[in-house]
Amino acid sequence: MIKAVRGTRDLLPPDTALWNFVETAARDIFRLYNFREIRTPIFEQTQLFARSVGEETDIVSKEMYTWEDRGRAASDKGESLTLRPEATAGIVRAYIEHDLNRTGLLQKLYMMGPMFRRERPQKGRYRQFFQIDAEVIGPPAAGSESPSVDAELLEMLAQYLERIGITGWTLELNSVGCANDRPKYNEALRAALAKDIDKMCEDCRRRAVTNPLRVLDCKVPEDQPIIEKLPRMLDYLDESCRQHFQTVQDLLAAVGVPYVINSRMVRGLDYYTRTAFEFGVPYVINSRMVRGLDYYTRTAFEFTHGALGAQNAILGGGRYDGLSESLGGPKAPGIGFAIGEDRLVLALSKTAEELSAPPDAYIAPLGAGMDREAARLARELRKQGVVVELGDESFRLKKSLETASKIGARYAVIVGENEVKADAFALKNLATGEQVTVQRAELARRIQSTLST
Ligand code: AMP
Repeated sequence: MIKAVRGTRDLLPPDTALWNFVETAARDIFRLYNFREIRTPIFEQTQLFARSVGEETDIVSKEMYTWEDRGRAASDKGESLTLRPEATAGIVRAYIEHDLNRTGLLQKLYMMGPMFRRERPQKGRYRQFFQIDAEVIGPPAAGSESPSVDAELLEMLAQYLERIGITGWTLELNSVGCANDRPKYNEALRAALAKDIDKMCEDCRRRAVTNPLRVLDCKVPEDQPIIEKLPRMLDYLDESCRQHFQTVQDLLAAVGVPYVINSRMVRGLDYYTRTAFEFGVPYVINSRMVRGLDYYTRTAFEFTHGALGAQNAILGGGRYDGLSESLGGPKAPGIGFAIGEDRLVLALSKTAEELSAPPDAYIAPLGAGMDREAARLARELRKQGVVVELGDESFRLKKSLETASKIGARYAVIVGENEVKADAFALKNLATGEQVTVQRAELARRIQSTLST
């Protein structure tokens, strides 16, 4: 038996109703805040995600699905391609490639779709998972650096979660500073880490060299007492970052969105940093690699939810003021987020059954030759907006009525020879058993009017 690949899964009805519900609500919200949809390819050149760390370096990431795509002809060069592990890189690539900077306006873009990471699968963590992603990016003159952009994005998220009925979330907020203050902080962190690093986990020891900021993200219990005592980025912010962060908070207070400050939250995707050390691929540490995460600047945030257990982040996001430039593009600061749809669906209190709409009517053709008549009637009713499931003339009436009940239809419409001759059909209310004869022209109205009462 061939099964779905480990870490991937099928989404079946009725559960897909939950997915449609959160996606439709997201589109509605994006419309209200004047975001527009972008769709980028599911795979990109590996270097877009790996951010070329040096010609001599072979980047193989533990978490990325990367393959060497062979050319089709001898003259075609092969290239290294990767299934997208996140959406921002592709969107910023598209922004640069299509020169969206020249509009001089903020681009408010959203996207939904599957992402791929070779993680250890567990509840709420999959190798193919879905994200709802949004980005605000543009030239500084369009206001892309403004803290009001950050606050609006966060307020939009709060409103979205409220709309889909998710309560009990916590907005965790931090500022990770910028290129001005980060080096000083990294230095302070390295100095503080120097005395205890030998007692820390392997990941931390590696991060202390490559990107000390990521040490703060460590979840290993034994490391926590050491991490608690490390210096806080918030105490190292320069004046402009400090003010930026303060304004984001003031605006959140003004619109009534609650938050907590989590000075340990650093965002940054592990697949940039894990890479070659663990694979033993030839590797050179260079300053450009550490720069890899420097384009995450200032505001960083996560919405977490208590009901989700270990994988408690429903969504995460932050600023990346230097990303466009690090990809060879213009100065185009931005901020964005990615909602993990798989976890969002887990946090919903609505059930799939509540959100699934059964058909209004089941049409039961009775006897030879009636499939044609039933098909005609179904077509007419559907044109008028009635949701119809169509039976088959080979079924006996008992079986048709049972099927109609099983699928939850409210009515059965019986199409037999007599009905066709009279141009009037037996309409049976499946809940009450009540049956009336209704003229063809009246049928749709009758079904719909009783539906709404
Ligand atoms: P990230 O792009 O890592 O910031 O992730 C954003 C959100 O995507 C997280 O808060 C999760 O809700 C979700 N997410 C990330 N990785 C996975 C995964 N492997 N499986 C399911 N959801 C994920």
